[in-house]
Amino acid sequence: MPAPGELVFASPRRAKPPRHLADLAPGDRAGAVVELGEPAFRARQLSMHYFGHHSADPDAMTDLPKASRAALAQALLPPLLTAVRHLDCDGGATRKSVWRLFDGATVESVLMRYPQRVTVCVSSQAGCGMNCPFCATGQAGLTRNMSAAEIVDQVVAAARTLEEGAVGDGPARVSNVVFMGMGEPLANYRAVVGAVRRLTDPVPDGFGMSQRNVTVSTVGLVPAIDRLADEGLSVTLAVSLHAPDDELRDTLVPVNTRWKVGEVLDAAWRYAERTGRRVSIEYAMIRDVNDQAWRADLLGTLLRGRLVHVNLIPLNPTPGSKWTASRPRDESEFVRRLEGHGVAVTVRDTRGREIDGACGQLAAVTVPA
Ligand code: SAH
Repeated sequence: MPAPGELVFASPRRAKPPRHLADLAPGDRAGAVVELGEPAFRARQLSMHYFGHHSADPDAMTDLPKASRAALAQALLPPLLTAVRHLDCDGGATRKSVWRLFDGATVESVLMRYPQRVTVCVSSQAGCGMNCPFCATGQAGLTRNMSAAEIVDQVVAAARTLEEGAVGDGPARVSNVVFMGMGEPLANYRAVVGAVRRLTDPVPDGFGMSQRNVTVSTVGLVPAIDRLADEGLSVTLAVSLHAPDDELRDTLVPVNTRWKVGEVLDAAWRYAERTGRRVSIEYAMIRDVNDQAWRADLLGTLLRGRLVHVNLIPLNPTPGSKWTASRPRDESEFVRRLEGHGVAVTVRDTRGREIDGACGQLAAVTVPA
């Protein structure tokens, strides 16, 4: 039994998602193929199909003997995500996809195409246990952790969509992945780090993205931030701060009662030190709640001189929430004050708002059971 007040992040035991190639480190794949009675080199061929060609279709695997294709694909490339629906907006440049997992749980991912980059926002858990009151995902609670392959497959599905030219003009490639969909990535640590490795290992071992283009966003689970800093990865850490003072943060990000603003920021600075990566501080701008000039100054004081960047997120509406986004003039004053402390600030765009695909709106509630 956990001690009173102790947080337990593990989800209850349930049936596991089917095993998939993307759950396995490259060195473990040959063994899995041999177990199926196939020569070890088929592992590399399968990896090439999945990570290089984004295909799990046995008919396309013409370099494999016909007799082996179906069995290999079934055993190592089982379907993990079933599309429930796709919703497009922003003139066709944004697509939210609702996926059903093997056990009926639903998750969402968002594909955002910009002139110079294409970002996929992925879910790492079905639901979320962090209970932040302004976030729709937090309201429903945690269903379960996703497997590494379930996370990776959202990116591979996005790559296919882009190759088909279904989002934006002409074919394109995924350049960025942000762990900012449903779930708290650092509460599903092993699968998330596994997914990061699969996404950033070179083809055919992995999907071949640059580590620098991957962002892991967290409410601030301090021990997990330290562990991530020791992985030898160059991924960007984003910390959902939302308030510079413990009194308010205790209410906006309930895990703050466990790890305080000072402890979370210290962990962020250790991360920046170990990795050389600039940390991103996320701050949802909530009208008359956390957007006062004095809070901008307090935040500026905490951040000044650090390897940091603030990303202000205009609050996106969520069902039943009494809160709304800051007034434009309060937002610009907040920016001005932070910049006055020498802190770099950007305001995040609100892609996907009208399809409930923006930050904090992913709830998969529109899905029939
Ligand atoms: N659990 C992780 C990943 C979610 S990332 C985390 O909290 O960092 C999504 C980002 O959007 C987080 O910074 C989250 O706090 C923020 N967010 C949640 N609800 C929002 C809303 N309604 N409007 C704007 N941002 C929101």
